[in-house]
Amino acid sequence: MDVLDVQTLRAYCLTCRKIVDSKHTCQTYRQVLLDAVLAGIAERLDNLGLNPIMLTFYFAENQPNTYRLQITLTLAVSLSCEILGPLPAGWKYCWDSNTASSIEYNDWLCVTKDYAEARLKTVVREFEKFLDGRDAEGIMAMILLTG
Ligand SMILES: [Zn+2]
Repeated sequence: MDVLDVQTLRAYCLTCRKIVDSKHTCQTYRQVLLDAVLAGIAERLDNLGLNPIMLTFYFAENQPNTYRLQITLTLAVSLSCEILGPLPAGWKYCWDSNTASSIEYNDWLCVTKDYAEARLKTVVREFEKFLDGRDAEGIMAMILLTG
C-alpha cells in the first residue's frame, strides 16, 4: 500500500474479525468502515464496549515532502467523560459540548514519504498497547453508568 494515497475504506466485521464484502450477512451495526491497518484498534475498541463505526487515517502534507499523520476514530457511543483515562501523547477526545464521539490523533512528528508507513504502524501499535492496558470491565461499567 502507499499510505500517502487516498485510502480505500473497507467494511470490517467485528463478529467475524475480518474484512468483508457487501454480501456479508452479519448485522450492519457489527461492521466498521476502516482502513485495514486500523483493524487491531477496531477490535480493541469493540472489546472495551466503545462500538467503533469508522476509523480512518490521513497524511497531511505539512511542508513540501513532509507529512503529518492524522487518525480519526469515530464511535457509536457518546462519551460523557474521559472513559479511557488520559490518552497517550498526540491523542485527544473530540468534545462537542459535553460529549465526545470521536478520538483523534495528530502527530507531532513530520515524516518524509519513505518513513510514512513505518510511522503509521508505530503509532497504531502503540495505541493498541495502550488499549490493551485498559480495564475492560471498569470501562463497560462506566459506559452503563454514564451513558
Ligand atoms: Zn460477520
